[in-house]
Amino acid sequence: MKFRRVDSAQTPERELPEMLTQTLNQLGGHALVLANGEIPIFMTSSVDQLGVLKDGKIQSPELLALVRVVRRNNTKQVGVIEIPRGPIGEGRHELTVTVIPLTEGDLVLVLLSDESEAQRIDDIRRDFVANISHELKTPIGALSLLSEAVLGAKDEPISVVKFATRMQSEAKRLTDLVQEIINLSRVQDSDPLQLAQEVGVEYVVREAIDQCQISADNRNIVVTYPESTTAIVLGDRHQLIMAIHNLIENAINYSPEATKVSVSTSLTESIIDIAVSDQGIGISESEQDRIFERFYRVDPARSRQTGGTGLGLSIVKHVAAKHGGEVTVWSVENVGSTFSLRLPIYEASIESPQ
Ligand code: ADP
Repeated sequence: MKFRRVDSAQTPERELPEMLTQTLNQLGGHALVLANGEIPIFMTSSVDQLGVLKDGKIQSPELLALVRVVRRNNTKQVGVIEIPRGPIGEGRHELTVTVIPLTEGDLVLVLLSDESEAQRIDDIRRDFVANISHELKTPIGALSLLSEAVLGAKDEPISVVKFATRMQSEAKRLTDLVQEIINLSRVQDSDPLQLAQEVGVEYVVREAIDQCQISADNRNIVVTYPESTTAIVLGDRHQLIMAIHNLIENAINYSPEATKVSVSTSLTESIIDIAVSDQGIGISESEQDRIFERFYRVDPARSRQTGGTGLGLSIVKHVAAKHGGEVTVWSVENVGSTFSLRLPIYEASIESPQ
């Protein structure tokens, strides 16, 4: 059923004209009808997923303000509201709202649409394309110069081998960059909370550690995860593994050989904190805000050496925000860093004592 009566003890029994409910039903969007006191008396079932209501009440002060204006002036109002994706973090969902008075001083109709969210994603994409073109120019330019060098040195086998080897590493860099660009744009475009799966935190942590094993072995670094957790989060399993993988891969890359990387999970008030700590080079306080920007690297030469693309942490930030969480950093130069991916857990999942 697409259209339904809201079940609530305080909801007065109200009948709406069938023509209205049928019309709203046919429109196929998100719609709410509010009675005096901002009590929803009808809503389309899709409204539930938007996070606009909690315990049958409207959460957004901006929406309540718009409704008040409509009641006062008895005229239609259009606005944009932001709904938090979770209890922490900066993840927001933008909705365009149209509020229409139905009966003077009583019933108002609220129509919600994702238009502004689509516009926001479009803006991000346009920006991103500009950054990408710039980043791709470096390895492509290098490949072009190296191929000229190979041609120029065709009678000197040693030089040919040298230039061809560098071509291989530039080609690998290009492949990694393209892969990360695809990963980031997938994360930016998706909404993991709409098609959410129940994901075991321990499973994603162990999977991410497994994926980093070869890099860890190459640098003689041990990655430990002594705990276990039964916490479950709602979201996209692949995105979560990718985010934790990026944090562990960075911890390995920005640490001296034969050091330790430790992963831990702890639960406080419905938030699971997945922390990745290293004994590495650390990040100065002034850089700590910037490292989550796309293509930002503290030391481009080192990042280039480790095959970094400058996109890893921006992927983590997006994954966190899309899951209604956040990523935070604690770091001291030459001491080490701890990155924490904090996510709201699925309320129905029960954490056993750790
Ligand atoms: P990259 O691909 O360059 O690693 P990221 O977005 O993953 O890109 O990280 C951005 C920058 O933040 C890195 O270039 C590095 O300077 C810094 N950084 C990230 N993680 C760590 C860490 N664990 N220790 C020290 N510096 C780090």
